[in-house]
Amino acid sequence: MRKIVIALDGYSACGKSSTAKLVASQLGYTYIDTGAMYRAVTLYFYENYIELTNPKAIADALEKIEISFRFNPNTQHSDTYLNNLNVEDEIRKMYISERVSPVSAIPEVRRAMVRQQQKLGKKRGVVMDGRDIGTTVFPDAEVKVFMTADLYTRAFRRQKELIEKDEIVDLDEILENLKTRDRIDTTRAESPLKKAEDAHFLDTTFMTVDEQVEYVLQLATSSIIQINKIAKPLEI
Ligand code: C5P
Repeated sequence: MRKIVIALDGYSACGKSSTAKLVASQLGYTYIDTGAMYRAVTLYFYENYIELTNPKAIADALEKIEISFRFNPNTQHSDTYLNNLNVEDEIRKMYISERVSPVSAIPEVRRAMVRQQQKLGKKRGVVMDGRDIGTTVFPDAEVKVFMTADLYTRAFRRQKELIEKDEIVDLDEILENLKTRDRIDTTRAESPLKKAEDAHFLDTTFMTVDEQVEYVLQLATSSIIQINKIAKPLEI
């Protein structure tokens, strides 16, 4: 059976990753959290005092960064590893959220991450969430969904996620962070966040995660049926 690429793009905290994880596990596909990759780069830059205005330091640092995902049997999901160290919890913290958008706007950083993401999805059978998957990483993705939600709803959802990880952050601080990231992510020169022309638009403000999963699964299922109907028989 031929496999497809499912691209879920959109704003922060509108349900992309929860949806993507569940869709991937239902289909037996691999979930790739591209935001985690930019967060891991940001952590490396932060810990190694890399100046964002120093192209040489950035290029050297990118050479030394290896990001991988490994299955965690306790959570039944993949954790993010930076140079063989599990950084899954660290990269979700607020100080990384506050620094990630300027890092991800750097063209060299984007090029390096996009290359890795295309490699990870080469065999298809992936659900990738991010900002530029349907426009830049996999413009030929069979299913593209562009997700958004009301700003306050997104902030409440993010606050709840942080509380579950024992990080108490003021709602105003989260709102400011989301607004700033939205602005930088949508206005950067290289592959800004925008809806691909052929993406389905999904406002999740009043939707449960199950409903979002159902929506994407329906699109995916009909695409998988379609692609396998028209696929040429394999040559022996
Ligand atoms: O998805 P998440 O909120 O974890 O992403 C963190 C940041 O990484 C985003 O605000 C954005 O700056 C960057 N990002 C990106 N391109 C992607 C995924 C994330 O620029 N494909």
